[in-house]
Amino acid sequence: MTEPDFVRSFQIEGMNVRGRIVHLTDVADRVLAAHAYPESVSRVVGEALTLAALLGASLKFEGVLTLQTRSDGPLRMVVADFSSPGTLRACATFDHDAVAALGGVPTFADLVGKGSLAITIDPGGDMERYQGIVPLEGAGLAEAATTYFEQSEQIPTRIRLAVATLISRGDAKPHWRAGGIVIQNLAALGGHAAPQPGQDTEEDWNRASILFSTIEPHELVDPQVEAERLLFRLYHEDGVRVFETEPLSFGCRCSADRVSSVLSQYPESDIRELAEDDGFVKATCEFCSATYAFSPDELLRAQAAT
Ligand SMILES: [Zn+2]
Repeated sequence: MTEPDFVRSFQIEGMNVRGRIVHLTDVADRVLAAHAYPESVSRVVGEALTLAALLGASLKFEGVLTLQTRSDGPLRMVVADFSSPGTLRACATFDHDAVAALGGVPTFADLVGKGSLAITIDPGGDMERYQGIVPLEGAGLAEAATTYFEQSEQIPTRIRLAVATLISRGDAKPHWRAGGIVIQNLAALGGHAAPQPGQDTEEDWNRASILFSTIEPHELVDPQVEAERLLFRLYHEDGVRVFETEPLSFGCRCSADRVSSVLSQYPESDIRELAEDDGFVKATCEFCSATYAFSPDELLRAQAAT
């Protein structure tokens, strides 16, 4: 049986083209159904979640990869992150009225507007964070990430993302599904990925890209279309080697300690003012909706201890 949520790497035989495919079933449903954002917002958040998994799965070390959009459209910010070995979460900040005013099926450009996509890799510990920023110009997250790889890393890249709601028989409410696929031309990097004598790596990449462009969105989100079957349909003539499946799951890194350390940085007067009628200062995690409550004295004790 296949995992409901997974990332799987593959290599097209005889080419220096590698890729990864992601399928999100329970994770997409957990994140998108729990937030209950408007459908158009959920679709972009689902794409960001999938993209974070596609890119994060390539980390060669324990770490966190974060995608963050900031833009001038009604959907002001989307954050999705992947922490190794395979934990995902995502959330969005948007103007409810402005999103509603766009109607049912707004374009990405209408919803997001112009801004930027930041890709941050945090290896943890004392290691330095790395951040790349590319413009977000209305074409979509996949296009922005492609630009990032082609400009910052000089790796020719193709990315497809898809998000859908599926209604299974006997189910009252639809379920969210998301999926994505990336291929990269590692021949462009040279080194040990250098071509064999007589191999035309440009021709290889063109063929791989043309076949890639035939992927239909439903092939990325339909549970009946297995990853192997899609890869076989695309690349059976060249042969495709599929590597081990790595499971993905929903998870949040928030904790009472983290929230307390943020809140206890405020001056005492602010902390007392933040207390609600029941006397507690409360904060809700944007990612998982967990609510944390502290008495002002508790926060001031934490403040004194730092
Ligand atoms: Zn949380």
